Amino acid sequence: MIFALAGNQNSGKTTLFNMLTRGNQRVGNFPGVTVEQKSGEIKYAKGNTVVDLPGIYSINPYSSEEVVTRDFLLNGKPDGIINIVDATNIERNLYLTLQLLELNIPTIIALNMMDEVRASGGTVDTRRLSELIGVPVVPISAAKKEGIAELVSTAVQTAENRMRPKIRDFCPEGPVHRCIHAVSHMVEDHAEKLGLPPRYAATRLIEGDDNGRFAESLGLSRNEVEMIEHSVLEMETERGLDRWAAMADMRYAFIEKVCKKTVKKTGQTRERQRSIKIDTVLTGKYTALPIFFGVMLLIFWLTFGVIGTPLSDLFLLGIDSLSGLIDDALTKTGVDPAIHSLVIDGIFSGIGSVLSFLPIIIVLFFFLSILEDTGYMARVAFVVDRLLRRIGLSGRSFVPMIIGFGCSVPAIMATRTLASERDRKLTIILTPFMSCSAKIPIYAVFCAAFFPKYAVYVMIALYLLGILTGILVALILNKTAFRGKPVPFVMELPDYRLPSPRSVLLLLWEKARDFLQRAFTVIFVATVVIWFLGSFDTGMNFVTDSSESLLAAAGRLIAPIFRPLGFGDWKAATALVAGFSAKEAVVSTLGVLSGVGVAELYVALPAMFSTLSAMSFLVFTLLYTPCIAATATIRRELGSGVKTLAVVLGQCVVAWIMSFAVFSVGSLFI
Ligand code: GDP
Ligand code: MG
Repeated sequence: MIFALAGNQNSGKTTLFNMLTRGNQRVGNFPGVTVEQKSGEIKYAKGNTVVDLPGIYSINPYSSEEVVTRDFLLNGKPDGIINIVDATNIERNLYLTLQLLELNIPTIIALNMMDEVRASGGTVDTRRLSELIGVPVVPISAAKKEGIAELVSTAVQTAENRMRPKIRDFCPEGPVHRCIHAVSHMVEDHAEKLGLPPRYAATRLIEGDDNGRFAESLGLSRNEVEMIEHSVLEMETERGLDRWAAMADMRYAFIEKVCKKTVKKTGQTRERQRSIKIDTVLTGKYTALPIFFGVMLLIFWLTFGVIGTPLSDLFLLGIDSLSGLIDDALTKTGVDPAIHSLVIDGIFSGIGSVLSFLPIIIVLFFFLSILEDTGYMARVAFVVDRLLRRIGLSGRSFVPMIIGFGCSVPAIMATRTLASERDRKLTIILTPFMSCSAKIPIYAVFCAAFFPKYAVYVMIALYLLGILTGILVALILNKTAFRGKPVPFVMELPDYRLPSPRSVLLLLWEKARDFLQRAFTVIFVATVVIWFLGSFDTGMNFVTDSSESLLAAAGRLIAPIFRPLGFGDWKAATALVAGFSAKEAVVSTLGVLSGVGVAELYVALPAMFSTLSAMSFLVFTLLYTPCIAATATIRRELGSGVKTLAVVLGQCVVAWIMSFAVFSVGSLFI
């Protein structure tokens, strides 16, 4: 049997999913972490599958992640729905519940966060609640692993016995009740043909905010549509509310009645009180932005200055001595010089130079995940909403952009949480300007070579430049191709919570695995290809001087494009092209082409770049085309090859212009 896990954002769906499947899905105190459905087997009830869905507030979706959930519920034919309800926020959560009940699928309520309710001295009469709502209610705490076994057995029983929700009377006699019944009756046959419950079809038609598309898909005749409209208009006049408000009012009135009988609250939970106190400072009118910038600076400083760099240096030493050992061994055994070169100059200097930056990336992710899991990031989205509005975005767009500091691929996927297509596309275009973590190795090597004393400042300056360029591009697009206003920003502010070590560790492990995987696949292949092209000439002879190689010939062809930027060297041009496969490949390529060990790369670079051209090179790598994985994601999310090409070319042009500006202005002073 298949169970769908449905509920509001941040109600604990993913936590419960992991509990049920002993899975490792990412949990975040942050709306929009789950944007795709994921399924797994329930460990306590073998043979049953549970599907984690993106959080929704209503079954009538506004954003594309919500569509994922609705489509699964309607078309995925789940045998049961486990509706997870946040007990600390029960009124709002039950709104969705009432809509889910209309789907007429066996449903049970998992009343989550009972630990918090208990701690604040509140109670919920779950027996009574279950009677009133007409479906089983199981109190649980996903985080504390309480009530899981009972939840599973209740869910399985409910689904096995096909116990449909009893929703006969949550709408009292009156105009709304009459309208729903009349419309249900009218569309019954049409709905059943599509396998939809008539009541669901009726309420969706009454609320109808999809320009009649749903009516069309039901195959209603013109006459029938008019009759429904007539019935709804009558209800509106009698009820004195518009259709949407009338339905919402009907649901909330019921919820209020139910909660009065079942929920005893003793004011706010401790978590909420604490959150409110913390928020007076962290989101205060004058304190919010300075604190945010302070926090970000601190994180970058710790990552690139205090913790990450020494760790990376240590790593580097390890890789370098290993490479030295193998080098000696190979020399002793006297293998073919081409093989020797492949192992040492190709694989070791290529992959090694990239691998040594793993610690920095892990440290950065550590801090970002702490920000996210505590619930702070959601606040910042709220705080920066006002600023983002000036450039035609809303606070919602902030979420993908911050994720973009890690990797553009999940960041671009996270844009699915944006409700309007305009906001979503604009955000997709801007996200790659947020410097992703794969570029860290490039910055780090160049900083070590050219600005060893100012490494931290150069790093921060690069990140800021990426953001500023993004803002500039946003301003331009907002005046041209993306005229219009961002939709109003509504996002739930989760309570501040201590991040769970498990969740943080999981994320770090995931990132490390991703990075290692890339190092040994894409970057490995790129390295070997570069080594090959850089070690043989047009006549397929092994050359010791790479400047006579095939690659040099090709590199020289494109190098002129970069000459005005100060780095017309064919090696730099080749490295940039290789960077399209993965940004780390820029470093591995430079390593292979300069034919030095990992640790000496920063010594070799000054032969290729001046300080100024190094700067313009960094600016170029910061801004130019996203890597192939990100480009493919953009293509998928924009749904257009032409537009994707425009985005990629646009970024290259922007990169060229900015880099040219840096180099020309710099030349005046140096
Ligand atoms: P989702 O958005 O519905 O998938 O929610 P998540 O599973 O990502 O959880 C949101 C937040 O609530 C995380 O910080 C969890 O650690 C926290 N959480 C989940 N379940 C519980 C619970 O039973 N008790 C408490 N105190 N916190 C919980
Ligand atoms: Mg989730």
